[in-house]
Amino acid sequence: MIIDTHSHIYVEEFDDDRDEAIMRAKENGVGHLFLPCIDESSLSRMDALCAKYPGYCSQMIGLHPTELGDDWKATLYNMYQLLSANPDKYIAVGEVGLDLYWDKSRQKEQEEVLRTQMEWALKFDKPLMIHCRDAWDELLTVFADYDKSTFRGVFHCFTGTADEAKRLLEYPNFKLGIGGVVTFKKSTLPEALQHVPIDRIVLETDCPYLAPVPHRGKRNESAFLKHVLEKVSQVYNMPCEQVSCIINNSIRDLFGVQFFEM
Ligand SMILES: [Zn+2]
Repeated sequence: MIIDTHSHIYVEEFDDDRDEAIMRAKENGVGHLFLPCIDESSLSRMDALCAKYPGYCSQMIGLHPTELGDDWKATLYNMYQLLSANPDKYIAVGEVGLDLYWDKSRQKEQEEVLRTQMEWALKFDKPLMIHCRDAWDELLTVFADYDKSTFRGVFHCFTGTADEAKRLLEYPNFKLGIGGVVTFKKSTLPEALQHVPIDRIVLETDCPYLAPVPHRGKRNESAFLKHVLEKVSQVYNMPCEQVSCIINNSIRDLFGVQFFEM
């Protein structure tokens, strides 16, 4: 059994077949889904899914850096109220971070939003699910205000080089989130992973985006995590069962919860 640590299966792309998609995930050995929040509209969708599949889905709370509306201060206020009223409901603060790929003009606001949510992670002792695109220098500049071991969490959707991995692995309580990109033909990620200990990664789909081979270009779903697992097993030259076991232990340590019997 494996855990999809980054599944947006609650979004509208799954409105027609969400139950079937969850069935397929279960049939393909995915034992639990972590749901990263994007914006306020994610919250009721995640609530509904967690109510329907208690024990199978766990939700996060946070404002994604590309989703800063003009009223982002109100959004943060509302999310903070929810988190402080019911901290056990949320397994992590996420997904949060910086994204300068889509919009460089709001870097300062993105940084302020990130810093605010990093403080939530500290206050409520939660891991961070970090989204970072074209902004690693800027992100690590924000992180540099804290000791490297202050936070724990996942650098989600890692697709970089060995040198970039090395830089991130200096944060001892962080894992790299590995997804469908590792299966792409021209991906340099398998090479980079030669320099990443297996206990420093977790697996994710980021569905509906970034479907692995052989589904590349189509809608991704949590069931396809098995293709990521198979590829990662090849890269580390270990049986899938062993990879799953190591990663499940990492997730338990990071999130503080045992999600199923191993
Ligand atoms: Zn995401």
